[in-house]
Amino acid sequence: MSHHVIWAPWRMSYILDDNRKNCRDGCLFCRIAAENNDGDNLILFRGTHAFVLLNRYPYNNGHLMVVPYSHLNNLGKLSQDAYLELMELFRRSIDCLHDALQADGFNGGINLGKTAGAGIADHLHFHIVPRWHGDYNFMPVIGETKVMPQHLEETYNHLLPYFSAERMASS
Ligand SMILES: [Zn+2]
Ligand SMILES: [Zn+2]
Repeated sequence: MSHHVIWAPWRMSYILDDNRKNCRDGCLFCRIAAENNDGDNLILFRGTHAFVLLNRYPYNNGHLMVVPYSHLNNLGKLSQDAYLELMELFRRSIDCLHDALQADGFNGGINLGKTAGAGIADHLHFHIVPRWHGDYNFMPVIGETKVMPQHLEETYNHLLPYFSAERMASS
C-alpha cells in the first residue's frame, strides 16, 4: 500500500478552526501545531492528520511523541484516516529512531486520562522512548515528568534528516 502524505493547508486550517472550538485553555499541542516554528518546537515531521515531536522533558535521549492535530481525548473519536496515520507514524518513528540512535529497544504507548498518568490528558498522544542495554532497569509506565539533562537541540538536528517524507510516508 502506498500512502502519500500531502501538505494540505486547507485541511490544516479546517482542523485548527475545529480545535479553537474544543480547546479552550491553550493546549500545548494545539499551540505548537498552529505555530510556524517547527525547529524551536522540536517538530520532526508533519503528516496530514498527525505530527511527531521530541519531548522537551525526555525519559531518555530521543523520547518522541506522535500527536494527532485534532484536540481529542479519546481514540474512539479520531477519524479512521487520522487513526491509521497516527499508527503509521508511530511505527515509522520507531524505525527512524532505531536507525538514528541505534537503540536496542523501545517503550511505546499511550496514557489515557490523568489517572493513567497523562500529563496532557485532553489531547491524545503516543510516547516512544528508545532504550539501550543498561540505561536503567525497568520503566513500568511511560510518565511525563522525569527531566533528564541533555542537548535537545543536538538530538533534534541529528534526528531531523531521518524523519524525511520518504521514510515516514512511503510503503
Ligand atoms: Zn490540543
Ligand atoms: Zn504524555
